[in-house]
Amino acid sequence: MTVQDLAGIGMTSERTRERMVRQLEQLGIADPRVLEAMRRVPRHIFLDEALAHRAYENTALPIGHSARPSPSPTSVALLAQLVVAEPRRRVLEVGTGSGYQAAVLAQLVERVYTVERIKPLLRKARERFRRLGLRNVVAAHLDGVCGWPEYAPYDAIVVTAAARQVPVELLEQLAPDGVLVIPVGDASRQELRLVRRRGETRRFAETVVAAVRFVPLVEGSTS
Ligand code: SAH
Repeated sequence: MTVQDLAGIGMTSERTRERMVRQLEQLGIADPRVLEAMRRVPRHIFLDEALAHRAYENTALPIGHSARPSPSPTSVALLAQLVVAEPRRRVLEVGTGSGYQAAVLAQLVERVYTVERIKPLLRKARERFRRLGLRNVVAAHLDGVCGWPEYAPYDAIVVTAAARQVPVELLEQLAPDGVLVIPVGDASRQELRLVRRRGETRRFAETVVAAVRFVPLVEGSTS
């Protein structure tokens, strides 16, 4: 492949990414910082080569290992928008997967902590963070149902897999006024919930944001 070919691919990707951003706007993603982050992060880097050409379609795509779907750009942008609705510095993501959501969040907050239960997925995601020079993402091979106590508390915790119920451990790792964004439900029906800790208390306020579809949150980690 010549340098010219590579430049061509880069430009095509920029143009298609711009189209994706327009679509996100039409779908109600209004925060300019989020749109800019979506414009900046190359989704094709986070997909297997065979699918990279479909990276900027607004659809979920498999990310290897039992064809687990990588969430659509709309859900990635929606979660990011919920996180940055208020100033937030430290964010924990449960379910690193391809690493795309973490890379988008890394454009918007000071530090992103992300955990994944499947080791080879985590390894690949780490490589991508390195390739993109993302120095504010820390990733670990952990069961995210238990959060990541070592770095708690977090200003926001984002779960990118659907839980049957809200794990108490995650609530305990929220900073005062912190929020937990989590899809709750079974395989067929899930709602995205926003759970906010009331100041420094142990009381929480819950709102339902949208109907969503994520892969299930599975307890335990695996090599
Ligand atoms: N945020 C990812 C989405 C990946 S799909 C992305 O941008 O690509 C959800 C991911 O959650 C899967 O990779 C799955 O392995 C992971 N997962 C499921 N249960 C988990 C758990 N208990 N702890 C950590 N990760 C988990």
